[in-house]
Amino acid sequence: MSARILEGKVFAQQFKEDAGRRAAILREKHGVTPGLAVIIVGSNPASQVYVRNKHKSCEELGIYSEVIELPEETTKGELIAKIDELNLNKRIHGILVQLPLPQQIADCEAEILNRIDPAKDVDGFHPVNVGRLVTGEPGLVPCTPAGCIRMLELADIPMDGKKAVIIGRSNIVGKPMLHLLLARNATVTICHSHTQDLAAVTKEADILVAAIGKPKFVTADMVKPGATIIDVGINRIAPKKLVGDVDFEAVKEVAGAITPVPGGVGLLTVAMLMQNVVKAAELQVGK
Ligand code: NAD
Repeated sequence: MSARILEGKVFAQQFKEDAGRRAAILREKHGVTPGLAVIIVGSNPASQVYVRNKHKSCEELGIYSEVIELPEETTKGELIAKIDELNLNKRIHGILVQLPLPQQIADCEAEILNRIDPAKDVDGFHPVNVGRLVTGEPGLVPCTPAGCIRMLELADIPMDGKKAVIIGRSNIVGKPMLHLLLARNATVTICHSHTQDLAAVTKEADILVAAIGKPKFVTADMVKPGATIIDVGINRIAPKKLVGDVDFEAVKEVAGAITPVPGGVGLLTVAMLMQNVVKAAELQVGK
């Protein structure tokens, strides 16, 4: 029997409705309109598309949004000065620096991102927010893993006591996913490029998360029958063809539930950013 397809648009719509509802409460009860500032440095075409999508989503939900376009040759000092200004700007509750940064400042990425006030760090990359995630305190969580967890909850997929395996240990996806699953009482294993006999580990998983960046890397023989498969990977294999890290066609015949690519996790990420902007505003007004 073919797996249940976890359509990103269904869940993204629910995230957005929730963010819109909470933004309206902030406006009506506290006189606060949640605000997002996105800084984009240079003219990377993919980044321009992402930033436009974020701006459009904000407009749909009554979230104030500013796009700050800085020239390609922006220095670290200039970018940090802009972040400092936004940290003090009362209209702005969330600040996001679109990655990747141009070459001359790419090496200083951590220093630049860490300059964002943790209360406004809607990407959830700041060490303060990472610490809060690890210790279970309220904070801002990276959008992609937060979206995956919320989707599992809304889809009524049990996590408590289940075996979850994550392939990939990035700071953006794999590591936060580990803590989010652990906080929901899953028994979590994280695999990476040095893991031996990967298939033996993945075959144990009730929930398998693939965040590797290799097209169709997870094959049907690596999956436990009935498992839930979350495919975070986005791999462009031809100018207009995106595939995930999972061999979708074959794996959907074995799995119990699976996210497609495109149309899966990618759609959750921007919707979860909207939730993070609202959450940042809620935390800042003390709600
Ligand atoms: P990354 O590129 O930083 O790291 C890849 C991880 O895969 C590493 O931890 C590495 O150890 C692991 N890996 C590589 N080869 C492996 C192998 N042979 N066996 C086991 N593990 C292996 O990862 P990332 O930034 O988390 O991105 C992963 C994928 O997710 C990419 O395709 C990226 O485009 C995508 N992504 C999607 C979204 C979204 O919104 N859907 C967000 C972030 C990342």
